[in-house]
Parts: sequence; C-alpha cells; structure tokens
Amino acid sequence: MRKLILLLFLPALHGADPAPCKNPEECWNLLMNGNRDWVAGRLQHPNQSKARREAVADHQTPFAVVLSCSDSRVPPEVVFDRGVGDLFVIRVAGNVVDQFAIGSIQYAVEVQKYTRLIVVLGHQRCGAVEAAVKNIPLPEPLASLVKSLRNAVEISRSWPGDHVENAIDANVHLVSDQLSKMFMKDGAVVLGKRYSLDTGAITDPRWIP
Ligand SMILES: [Zn+2]
Repeated sequence: MRKLILLLFLPALHGADPAPCKNPEECWNLLMNGNRDWVAGRLQHPNQSKARREAVADHQTPFAVVLSCSDSRVPPEVVFDRGVGDLFVIRVAGNVVDQFAIGSIQYAVEVQKYTRLIVVLGHQRCGAVEAAVKNIPLPEPLASLVKSLRNAVEISRSWPGDHVENAIDANVHLVSDQLSKMFMKDGAVVLGKRYSLDTGAITDPRWIP
C-alpha cells in the first residue's frame, strides 16, 4: 500500500517542478534576460550545478525549443545563459529543417508537450547560407542541405544590402512560417530571430515583402 501511494505520488512530484515561465511570452522574456547578460558579459550560469543535474536526471521539462545552426559560435545554452534541462535544442547547419528535425520538435511540442515556444535562431555570416548565395559546389549530402536554402536566396535577392545577411533573415522567416503552420494545432508560438556574432545580441530578422 505504501509503495502504491508512493508510485501515485511520484508523477505529481515531478509535475510540481517550479516552471520558470507560464506561457510562450514569459518564456521568451526569460531567454532575452539571459541574452542581455551574455551581451553584457555577466553570465549567471543558471541550472548548471550538480544539484540541477541530479534534479533532472530522470525527467525533463524544458521551457523552450530552439532550432539553431550548428555553428560553434552560437550554442543556445550559452547565448541565452541557461543550463541543463532548460532548452530542447535542434542544431542543423543553416537552421533548416528536414523530417528528422521536425520529428524532434514534434516530440517536445506535440508528444511530450514540454512547451509551446519554438525559437528559430539564424546568425550573422552563416557559412551554409553563404554557400547557397555563392553557389559553392559541395559534396552530397551537404549539397542537398545547402540547396534547401535556395528559396531564401531567391526571395532576398532584390533586398537592399548584403545578400548573405538578407538570405539569413529570409531563411529564418521561411523556416518559422513552416513550423508555425505545422505546430499551430498545438498552440505553438514560433519566433524567428537572428544572432549577431559581433555583439552577441539576438534581434528580429528583416523581412521585405
Ligand atoms: Zn550557420
């Protein structure tokens, strides 16, 4: 009987994790607080202790999904100043999505319902987007990955300014729109953002209709 009570109690205890934010807007504000600390060079390193590691060893409740580029200079946990168990991260060069990336997001948002916030994070001087803009010959399957950026390259061709930077922004918008449509039924809020390698700041991408 005692064991049964304990078993009944366990999920409730897990569910009682204090959520750091209640809705996508609050969760985004939390991420931006962390980004401001990163920009200012005053990282707090939340949730990076041994105690935190142990607390989330048998379950997780990440409060945001982040799709970002594989670029070594844009690790989401660092640029948002967060720790373990906070972010559900998918990283693919050029922050593009294929079926497996979508499946990973689906796991977090639709199946486990960890969070309704999905952040698509492009970044300044992205090598994948640059390769697409300059049409650099590449081996497969990298060539297919870069080819999937072609729409973003075409859409941004007439925008004033630097074509690579504009295509980075167009790609963030296209991927965000795709995910918005896909996860609308789950009440997901998809935010497309861009990261500056120069300053560490995360801002809105351009969009010229
Ligand atoms: Zn990149």
